[in-house]
Amino acid sequence: MVLIVESGGAVIQHGGSETGGLIPVASYARTSEDSRQRDGHGVRYQLRINERTARDHGCVVVMAYSDNARSASKAGVVRPGFDRLMADLVRGRTDGGQPIKGVVCVADDRLYRRAEDLARFFAALTSSPGRIYVDPQGVRDPYSQEGLMQAVRSLDAAATETRVRSRRLSHWHWARAVEGVPHSGPRPFGWLEDRITLHPEESKLVEQAISDRLSGKAVRAIARDWCELGVTGTRGGRPNGQTVTQIITAPRVCGYRANRGELLFVPETGEPVVGQWQPISTPELWHAVCATFSPGSLFLHRGSGAPRLTDSRRPVPRHLGTGFLRCGARSPDGTACGGALCAQKGRSQRSPYVYSCRNCRRCSISGPLVDTALERLIFDQAHGCTRVPDTTRQRWQVGEMGLDEKRKIVGSFVTHCLVRPGVKADHTWDFSRVEPIWR
Ligand SMILES: [Zn+2]
Repeated sequence: MVLIVESGGAVIQHGGSETGGLIPVASYARTSEDSRQRDGHGVRYQLRINERTARDHGCVVVMAYSDNARSASKAGVVRPGFDRLMADLVRGRTDGGQPIKGVVCVADDRLYRRAEDLARFFAALTSSPGRIYVDPQGVRDPYSQEGLMQAVRSLDAAATETRVRSRRLSHWHWARAVEGVPHSGPRPFGWLEDRITLHPEESKLVEQAISDRLSGKAVRAIARDWCELGVTGTRGGRPNGQTVTQIITAPRVCGYRANRGELLFVPETGEPVVGQWQPISTPELWHAVCATFSPGSLFLHRGSGAPRLTDSRRPVPRHLGTGFLRCGARSPDGTACGGALCAQKGRSQRSPYVYSCRNCRRCSISGPLVDTALERLIFDQAHGCTRVPDTTRQRWQVGEMGLDEKRKIVGSFVTHCLVRPGVKADHTWDFSRVEPIWR
C-alpha cells in the first residue's frame, strides 16, 4: 500500500471498503513546526508505523489524516487534518462512507498537547460506543476511567517527554530502515560519501573478493592483495582477514537492509527490505559467500561496529569486555584470584571467542555472553542520574557505534566486573556470573 502525503492537513483514502473482519481505524500523524522533516518524511514514517501498529492489533487503517509542521502546543494553530479527523469521528464515517471504529497514532502527543484538544478528541472518539484507541503500546478503552487517566497523564508532558520522544525515535529508525535509507555513520567501504553511489575502485575490489572467496581463496590472502594494491579502509586502516570478511558478508553488498543486526523484511510482502543504494552483488552470491564462513564471523553476527577498517598501527582491544573483567575464582586457601580475563578464540559457534583467566585457568566465560551482559547492565540496570542518553542507546543498538566508543561507555559505568566461574557442563547463559563494580 503506497501512501502519498501532501503537506498540511492531508487526507488519504484507502481503497476498498471491506476490512476482512479487522477493526477499521483512522490513522493520524503530525510533525511539529520545528521538525526538520518539513518534506513530509516525518509524517509518512508515522503513518507507516501506524499501519504496523494497526496490523499488530487486529485493526486496519481505512483513512489517514495528517498535519505537517503544525504545533499542537500553541493555542490558535489550525490543524486541518486534526479538525477533519474530529468531524469524521463525530459523524462516524469517512467521506467515502467507511465506518471508523477507532484511532491509531504513534503517541498521544501527536494528537494533543493541550487540555482543550484532549477534551475535544475524547468527546469525538467516544461520541459513539465501541470505539478504541491504539498506539504501539496496545489498545486502550477510551470509555474507561483508566483510559482517560492515561490520556491525562500523557498531558503531564514534562516528565514523560523524553520517554515519548525516544520511543518515537526508535520507531522512526525502523521506518527509515524499512524505506531502505542507508545507515548513517562512517561511509561503508565500496560506496561514495553519499552511501548510495558505488565507489568505482572499491566496489570492484569487493565484487572480486566475493568471487575469489567463492572459488576458495582465503580472506587473509585477499587482504594481502588489497594491502599490496595500497588499499586502505575508509578510516585509513590496513585491511586484514577479519575486515575483508565483514565487508563481503555485510547484507548491504546485495542491497539488503539490516537493522540491529537483523535483516529487515517488508511487513506487507515478507521480502527483505532493499536499500536505496547501488548493490555490488546479488542476494544469491551474498548468501553463497556467507555460507563459506562460520556464523560467528559474519557481519550480521558481529554488527557493523567491528567491520570497518580501523587504524591497525596501534593495538586496540577487539572485544567489548577486554580489560574490564577480573577472575572471581577462589584458590584453595580461599583468596580470590582477581586475574585479568583475556579474550581468546573459542571452540563453539555460539561462542566464537571466550574470556579466560590466564592466572589460575579456573575461570572461562563465553565472549558473546559477557558482551551481552555488559550491554544489559548498562542499559537496564544503570539507573538514576547516570542513565545513558537515549540517542546513545539508539546508536549502540542499531549498530552505528564503534567498539572504541562502546568501551568508553562501559568504562564510564564500571571500574571492572567480577566474573564467577561457571558450573562444569552447564552451557546455559547465566548473566549473573558477571557482577559489576559500579563507578
Ligand atoms: Zn583466575
